[in-house]
Amino acid sequence: MTQLLIRDLAQVVTPITGQAPLRGRDLGRVEVVENAYVLLDGDRIVSVGPMTALGALTGSREELDGRGLSAIPGLVDCHTHPAFAGDRVHEFALRAGGATYDELLAAGGGILSTTRATRAAGQMALDAFVARHRDAMIAHGTTTFEGKSGYGLDRETEVAQLTAIRDAGGIPTWLGAHAVPPEQPGADAYVDWAIREVLPEAAAIAVAADVFVERGTFDTAQARRYLEACRQRGLALRLHGDQLSEMGAVPLAVELRARSIDHLESTGADGVAMLAASGVVAVLLPIAALYLGRPMPPARALVDAGAAIALATDFNPGSAYCESLPVVCTLACTQLGLTPEEALAACTVNAAHVLGLDDRGRLAPGLRADVVLLDATDWRHLAYHLAGDVVHTVIQGGQVVRGPA
Ligand SMILES: [Zn+2]
Repeated sequence: MTQLLIRDLAQVVTPITGQAPLRGRDLGRVEVVENAYVLLDGDRIVSVGPMTALGALTGSREELDGRGLSAIPGLVDCHTHPAFAGDRVHEFALRAGGATYDELLAAGGGILSTTRATRAAGQMALDAFVARHRDAMIAHGTTTFEGKSGYGLDRETEVAQLTAIRDAGGIPTWLGAHAVPPEQPGADAYVDWAIREVLPEAAAIAVAADVFVERGTFDTAQARRYLEACRQRGLALRLHGDQLSEMGAVPLAVELRARSIDHLESTGADGVAMLAASGVVAVLLPIAALYLGRPMPPARALVDAGAAIALATDFNPGSAYCESLPVVCTLACTQLGLTPEEALAACTVNAAHVLGLDDRGRLAPGLRADVVLLDATDWRHLAYHLAGDVVHTVIQGGQVVRGPA
C-alpha cells in the first residue's frame, strides 16, 4: 500500500489517549505537537510526531506539504437527519416573522410536511439528497456521520431512508418513533405497528434505534416499549429527550443503558447528576437551540459533574439546517461554556464512542486514517473562525477527499 506523509505541519492536535468517552478534566486535555508530521499507510495511521523524530523512510510514498496548516482528527457527526426531500424554508420565513413552532405544526408544517415530501421522493432521489448533504459535511471536515430515518414513518420509506444513509457511507439509526403519521390512530397503535411491520427490516440495516420523547409525540411508556423491542433485535439505543420539557427521558435512558440521550435543553440539576453517574453520553446540539431560540443545554454543568458529552449538528430541514461541526464548535465555546479542547474531543473521540466506533476520533498509530488539515497555524481557529473557510484538506480512510489533489 502507498504511504502518505503529511510533513512540516505547524501543529498536530489530538484528544489524549484513554478510555472513551473522555470525561471531566480529561475531556479538555489534548496533545499538541508543533512542527510535526502524520504518516499514513493505506487506511491507517502509522505514526505522529515532531519532524525531528521522523526517521529515514523506505519504499514509495506520496507527500503533502503541511506548511502553514494544522492537523486534527476527522470530525464525527453523531446526530443528523439527512434523508429527506423538500425543505422548510417557507416555515423558516414564517417563524422569522413571529410564528411559533406549535402554530406551524397546527398549520400542517413541521415533521409531517417533510414526511409528505419524503414519501413521494423514491429511493433514487433520497440517495442523491443524502449524498449531497454528506458531501457538504465532508467539506466542513466531517469524515464519519450518523444519519437517522424518521421522515418516512411507513415501512417502505423508512427502509429507503436507512438504505440511502448506509449507501452514502453513513451510520444508520432507525428513528421509527419520530412522530405519529396521520394515517395511524395514535401513538400507542403506531408504536405497535412500527415494531411489528418495520423493525425486522430496519434492524437489518440500522445499528441503533432512536425515539423522540416529548409532549405530543411519545411518552416514556411508549418509548420504553419501542426501545426494548429494538434492543431485542440487537440495536443500540438512543433518545431525543428534554428538548422542550423534562418528560422522564433521562431516567429511562439511564435505566435502559442507552448509548446516548440527545438535546437536553430543558434538563435540570437532577438530570445532570443522574447522567454524570451513568455511562449514557449527553449529546448536545447547540444549533437546534439557536434556531428555535431555546435555552442552551447545561453543557458546563454536565462536564463539571463528570458526565460524558458529545457535540453534533442535528442537521435537519426544520430546526438545524447546517452541516458544519466547526460552527458547532464555535457555539460550544461561545454559548455552552466549553473550551476549544473540550469541543474538539466532544465531536471526535466521544462522538465516535456514541456510534460504537473505537477506531477513530484521535490521531494515533493504528487508528483509521481520518485527518483534517486546517488552514491555520493554530488549530483553535476551528472554533475561533465563525463559519470561516477553515477546512483546507480532508483525508478519509487514507484518501484525500477534499483539497489538493
Ligand atoms: Zn435530532
